[in-house]
Amino acid sequence: MRPINVAVVGAGPAGIYAADILTKEYPGATVDVFDRLPAPYGLVRYGVAPDHPRIKEIIKALRRVLSRDEIRFVGNVDFGTDVKLSDLRPFYDAVIFSTGAIFDRDLDIPGIDLEGSYGAADFVSWYDGHPDYPREWPLTAKHVAVLGAGNVALDVARMLVKPADEQLTTEIPDNVYQGLKVNQATDVHVFARRGPAQIKFTPMELRELSHSPSVDVIVHPEGFEIDEASEKAIQATKAVRLVADTLLKYMEAEPTGAPHRIHIHLCQAPVEVLGEDGKVAGLKVEVTELDGTGNARSTGEFKTYDVEAVYRAVGYKSSPLADVPFDDTDNVIPNAGGRVLDLDGEHVPGTYCTGWVKRGPVGLIGHTKSDAAETVANLIADIDSTPAPEHDDRDAILRHLTERGVDFTSWDGWVALDAHEVSLGEAVGRERIKVVDREEMLSRSRG
Ligand SMILES: Cc1cc2nc3c(=O)[nH]c(=O)nc-3n(C[C@H](O)[C@H](O)[C@H](O)COP(=O)(O)OP(=O)(O)OC[C@H]3O[C@@H](n4cnc5c(N)ncnc54)[C@H](O)[C@@H]3O)c2cc1C
Repeated sequence: MRPINVAVVGAGPAGIYAADILTKEYPGATVDVFDRLPAPYGLVRYGVAPDHPRIKEIIKALRRVLSRDEIRFVGNVDFGTDVKLSDLRPFYDAVIFSTGAIFDRDLDIPGIDLEGSYGAADFVSWYDGHPDYPREWPLTAKHVAVLGAGNVALDVARMLVKPADEQLTTEIPDNVYQGLKVNQATDVHVFARRGPAQIKFTPMELRELSHSPSVDVIVHPEGFEIDEASEKAIQATKAVRLVADTLLKYMEAEPTGAPHRIHIHLCQAPVEVLGEDGKVAGLKVEVTELDGTGNARSTGEFKTYDVEAVYRAVGYKSSPLADVPFDDTDNVIPNAGGRVLDLDGEHVPGTYCTGWVKRGPVGLIGHTKSDAAETVANLIADIDSTPAPEHDDRDAILRHLTERGVDFTSWDGWVALDAHEVSLGEAVGRERIKVVDREEMLSRSRG
């Protein structure tokens, strides 16, 4: 087995797991993990909600991987702007793309572009302190609609009603705390197109909604429909049963009179965002009914809700990468088991993908591990037929980046920035406070 040097583009969990598995399974492999940000960890840092510190703990394991000698983090390098595939090829035996997803999927209903209508992903990037998003978020709406029935919808609803001071134990940056402090939202309405057995919440996230003493969770009885197919799903899958049970408990519970409420509306499909003077003024939904197959069909009955803001939480989508094949329908890199395919369905030699950009933006962090294992196994199987790179000096790429004026950061740089964030937190009894400004991130990374 010849020694190999591999580039991973995207330092989220998928890329880090790929680096980990590759260096364990292929003795002598070295890996450079590039990211467009000076901070690694992708959506674990910039997607997972700040009040989920237990999930964010995964970062400790990812950090151990990135600190290994055979793996090198190279931050602040944007694939597409700073480097292209043709720049990387001479230095690496293979390139693995793991660029995940950061943007909202579109929702094609009238009024979705009105002022006051937002994508959940943008809001998430704001409250998680992503450096490329505005520092301020308009939180003037008292009544808000969240469209979608997955965990991101729950994150958004929870973040919109949980008082700022309850968030002060978390790593939220100061601008987010100040923004949440003046948040006016009292009632957040979450809309799901189908019934309690079809909803995509996970039981833990759903139960957690009621953990804040300032929030009542109200499940409205209309649409709490359990048909034969639902009954079968409830019997077959424990998670479905737990979600349906939890929804029932919320439905039966007396509201405590808490100042904030999350309303869950089942079997209601948003059809139009209503506007007044160009701004969101309401939401029109169509009542649906289950059709016996687990899907919902229209009933022709409509309702409107007075809301001043709408968040669509209908999924994320990956973005195309320069000179890399992309499937615009499914928004993924076309691939077979992680081998990148061109338009003719042929493997583009030496190129691979993993994580959300490989299989679409679904699944938990843990799923990216098995995903990476498949990609790495195929990469290793191909090595004998993959041409070796021009350069075998591991530092040649860094010299190349410097010559091209790419202002990259290093693992030591991240360690310094990380220590700074922890020290900011320690000063006020918190675990960490995130640095948001990219220039500050860079200057801290340079020590
Ligand atoms: C709001 C939200 C909450 C979530 N909460 C949970 C949870 O509680 N528990 C759980 O298990 N899972 C959760 N997930 C899912 C989890 O975050 C994903 O499964 C996982 O992050 C996907 O990993 P990935 O590495 O494929 O992509 P990502 O995590 O998106 O990482 C991609 C990386 O690539 C980098 N990148 C992108 N483009 C470029 C480029 N052009 N050049 C260089 N680098 C680039 C990005 O900066 C990023 O660091 C959540 C997801 C979201 C959106």
